[in-house]
Amino acid sequence: MSARRWSRLGLLAAEAVGAAVLTAGVCWAILALLAGEQSTAGLIGRLLGADPGGAAAAVAASLGVPLDWTVAGVDGRLYPITLLLSGSPLALLAAGPLVGMVVLGVRTRKGLTVAGAAVAAGGYAITLTGFVVAGGALAADPLVHLAAPALLVAGAATVWASVGILAARTFRLNRAAVVVAVVAAGVVVAVPASAEPSPGGRVLPFGGGASAPRVGYHRPGVTAELTRLRAEQGAEPLVANDLWRGTPSMVGTRSKLTGGVPGWLRQHAGIFGLADPVGSLRSVREQREPTGERHLWFQQHVGGVPVYGSQVGIHLDRTGQYVEFVTNGAEPALDVRSTQATVLAGDALRTARLAMPNGRLVEPAKLYLLPSNPEPNRATPTVLAWQVWLTDLSGGLSNAYFVDARSGRLVYALPKTAHARDRRIYDANKLTELPIVPKRTEGEGATGIDDVDDAYDYLGDTYDFYHSRFGRDSYDGKGGDLRAFVRVRSKKDEPMRNAAFIPDDIDTMVFGEGMTTVDVVAHELTHGVTFNSAGLWYMYQSGALNESFSDIFGEAIENYSKGAHDWLVGGQIPGGALRSMADPTIYGDPAHYRDFESSCSDWGGVHTNSGIQNKAFYLLTQQIGITKAAAIAYRTLTTYLGERARFTDSRVGFIESANKLYGKGSTEAKEAAAAWTAVGVDGAFEQPRQDCACFADESLAGAGVDGLDPQGPGVDAVLAALLHVRDLFSAARTPALAHYEVVYVTYGQRAIELMATDDDLRRRTAHAMQTLEPALRTVGTAAGDSTVVSQAMLDELSGLMNNYAAADVAAGGGGFAERIGQELDRAAFDQMAGKTVNEALAFLDTRVG
Ligand SMILES: [Zn+2]
Repeated sequence: MSARRWSRLGLLAAEAVGAAVLTAGVCWAILALLAGEQSTAGLIGRLLGADPGGAAAAVAASLGVPLDWTVAGVDGRLYPITLLLSGSPLALLAAGPLVGMVVLGVRTRKGLTVAGAAVAAGGYAITLTGFVVAGGALAADPLVHLAAPALLVAGAATVWASVGILAARTFRLNRAAVVVAVVAAGVVVAVPASAEPSPGGRVLPFGGGASAPRVGYHRPGVTAELTRLRAEQGAEPLVANDLWRGTPSMVGTRSKLTGGVPGWLRQHAGIFGLADPVGSLRSVREQREPTGERHLWFQQHVGGVPVYGSQVGIHLDRTGQYVEFVTNGAEPALDVRSTQATVLAGDALRTARLAMPNGRLVEPAKLYLLPSNPEPNRATPTVLAWQVWLTDLSGGLSNAYFVDARSGRLVYALPKTAHARDRRIYDANKLTELPIVPKRTEGEGATGIDDVDDAYDYLGDTYDFYHSRFGRDSYDGKGGDLRAFVRVRSKKDEPMRNAAFIPDDIDTMVFGEGMTTVDVVAHELTHGVTFNSAGLWYMYQSGALNESFSDIFGEAIENYSKGAHDWLVGGQIPGGALRSMADPTIYGDPAHYRDFESSCSDWGGVHTNSGIQNKAFYLLTQQIGITKAAAIAYRTLTTYLGERARFTDSRVGFIESANKLYGKGSTEAKEAAAAWTAVGVDGAFEQPRQDCACFADESLAGAGVDGLDPQGPGVDAVLAALLHVRDLFSAARTPALAHYEVVYVTYGQRAIELMATDDDLRRRTAHAMQTLEPALRTVGTAAGDSTVVSQAMLDELSGLMNNYAAADVAAGGGGFAERIGQELDRAAFDQMAGKTVNEALAFLDTRVG
């Protein structure tokens, strides 16, 4: 190749780089300009403009690569054409490449005609939108994800090439345009791709070396904010990352409070990923400690409606001059369709009652925006829903139901009852009539009934422990009364080998016979403490933490009461201990994060995965003693954790608590970190989030109204009936319910897989459930004594099961078909028609035994 040709190529390369840099610079400047605006564009500007990754993503957007950091009001992805049509100032991003084109045009000394530029810009927007739409459609297939970046590079390159032809009408320039496109698109496409969630851990593309958080996708702006905090305090902030939200869920820092809390929130909006933290966070409560420290809690709102489970805690030091800690439960990007309810609260209550026929309303229905699970690179969908909180004391149940305030459908149920052990094995058939007259009230003498006197004494010890150690006045911190029922026996007069805390108007604890040992009593009352402080949701990781804190204080209070303890939960109850904290594996529970049990059973393994924090706590006590370790756990639970905390949050809470109680960098703080590291929770990776899909929900969601007979029960009634049955499965109060719970947990996922590819199967499932609804909703209730199981129901059910068996075989067979055959034989439908629902259930009890 001649020297002339080389220099020509060098020139082209220089042009390419120059145009790419110019494109990026223009985009960044535009974003910086928009960032000050209180608008969607301003939010995007703030999110993307704050760090190089975000600016690169903006360049990607201007090239037509889909911009995935979406926010309220913008659906899914940003297309150039959407921006143009909506008159969004973000359309200015297209100025970046246009400027690049002008540079190339000037370079050829031909420049751009106005008409040429207009044609180029129009063609550019239309072609890119086409590419993005095609890419979005293809992206539904996971395999295509791998090819997506290449596809987008190719798309961008083609567009730039055609722009080049239009602009300069020379093939030579077209070549340059291709080089520019490949360089620019290659860089920008790489950035959003590396922001994908990575359960195995991934170094941040712009994370800045070993001192940066090791893992986690960060929304644009977060890394820059953490860097600012690091610079401000001269040390690394203590951070728990939320991989799914892309924001830190916990931040330990020392940041000067300027402009009061609102000023601070505004200056540090990047932590939360909120455009307007002051407008969206409303004060809900304040804790003030004797030391002068203050903990201010805020509830996230959108359009005046609270976002369920999304609270932020700002923790101030004793001088009130510094923010020392942030608990961040805010949802950074929400897709809110509406904040206007069209369904009345009374109708929502009626629907929820279908799921809990004997339910009593605990508090008036409240309107919330219920977010679904967050995922990187998209706005989290929300449902405007009425929360209807019902309690059925005789059934030992308390659930918060969520009814879509626009469609009237039941969309979610959150358990509120906490049990000492997995309900499905040990619960009673039905709680016997609870006594009305108290056996022993405060100050009265012993009754001579062991269970009553033990409950009285141990509730007293538990009260004294919390009061003398932490100044807490009763479980709710307000001197709250509660009632306890002891020696609860089943309808069949069998002992209930369980205990439970049931929140209600007057919170209630129930204990089976012999269950009133000190650790079990303290365990249950601690559920009340948790309920009134962190409020940890009783499912998945937060549920496992909830259980673990009850186990922890069960032991700490056993030690306080007796001067010794055994690390066994329920060491003195009939039938023997439930769990070991020193070695959870003795009872088959995990003692390390790598053994985390991903199960849908037991609300996501709340009584098994509790072993992980239990073990960490045990290890900590071996270094610093149980008194100090319990103080650390108490502060973590009551000061720092939010409703949806995960293990990694509790780890940071332990370290921060030890820092505060025993000094920053103290032995206690180091040991707290070491104990969590020993159980595999070191902030370096995050367990994939668990979602237990219910095949009933899936079938109805998929088939919708199409699959249902318009004459039959509506979707809301069918879903309510299924939730009712799911509750019974989880309680497993009869042998048949226990049996079918196992089948459900084992094969539910398989059923969903089969439905996913078979619309007809999904419709049949929905229809069968609709046919069965009148029976399902009465299972285990008084109405079940008069509702009859019809031949039509049995035919529909057996027909559906045979459809699933055939689908399983056709899909290669996963053992489901064989199991269906066994279950149909076992159930003996031919003998069941004409029986009442409760008779049929009793009949099934004899068949599964
Ligand atoms: Zn419990």
